[in-house]
Amino acid sequence: MLVYLNGKLVDKEKATISVFDHGLLYGDGVFEGIRCYDRLIFKLNEHIDRLYRSADAIELKMPMTKANMIKAVIETLKANALQDAYIRLVVTRGQGDLGLDPRKCKTPTVFIITDKISLYPKEFYQKGLEIITAKTKRNLAAALDPRIKSLNYLNNILAKIDAIKSGVEEAIMLTYNDYVAECTGDNIFIVRDGRLMTPPTDVGALEGITRNAVIGLAKKIGMPFREKMLKLEEVYSADEVFLTGTAAEIIPVTKIDKRRIGDGKPGETTPRLMEEFKILTKLDGVKYAL
Ligand code: PMP
Repeated sequence: MLVYLNGKLVDKEKATISVFDHGLLYGDGVFEGIRCYDRLIFKLNEHIDRLYRSADAIELKMPMTKANMIKAVIETLKANALQDAYIRLVVTRGQGDLGLDPRKCKTPTVFIITDKISLYPKEFYQKGLEIITAKTKRNLAAALDPRIKSLNYLNNILAKIDAIKSGVEEAIMLTYNDYVAECTGDNIFIVRDGRLMTPPTDVGALEGITRNAVIGLAKKIGMPFREKMLKLEEVYSADEVFLTGTAAEIIPVTKIDKRRIGDGKPGETTPRLMEEFKILTKLDGVKYAL
């Protein structure tokens, strides 16, 4: 496997960075997770835009243009002869000293890993996923803007540990005042009386690319949609619940905290959106030739 590292394609074993890199020492950096379907890099421009917005929000000056970043992603996929892939694009503050001072980091570190995607088992998409509510609360949105996709994932990891301890794969994260924010690595939607709802991002959710795509699909099929602050009770009593994310795509949720959602099956709306999403993954992105 070849990894893009600071302008060069290097063997996986040689793709190493300094222990003084602030991405490692402080989680000081930004990243993206991107999917590639049959040589179509899904929503690549949207991911690149979010990466540059995240970098701007932490005052990290990107060392290359968006066009060159796109070229680097394609170059890495081609070098690994991948048609379907999960792409991890990471930009750290770079190598500094042991202090926090980002001015000591002269050059950002850029790396791109392209790998095979590991998915939730197929049956979860048919039967639905069981999740829990994490006891770990979401970071305060006023303290750390949730729209920044930073390398600081400890808040999410602690909630993921809550999920694992309960024997499930995902967990809902609540805000300090008990509104639903999102899951550890996915956004959350509910359907009630044919209406689609998701929490606004400023409660503490990442503005997911898949989330935005689903909102677009709802408009396309004429389904009413709105952002709404949701309490857990509204999620429990929803007709349908599903999660969205680059890796998970759209996945139905049929049990939360051992409570059955709707009739315990994925319902009608979620599979409909899953179908529409599948069509979109064949159309909306940047195509390349191997
Ligand atoms: N929320 C969090 C915390 C995430 O890490 C992710 C991405 N894995 C998402 C939501 C979904 O975002 P996207 O659809 O852009 O992958």
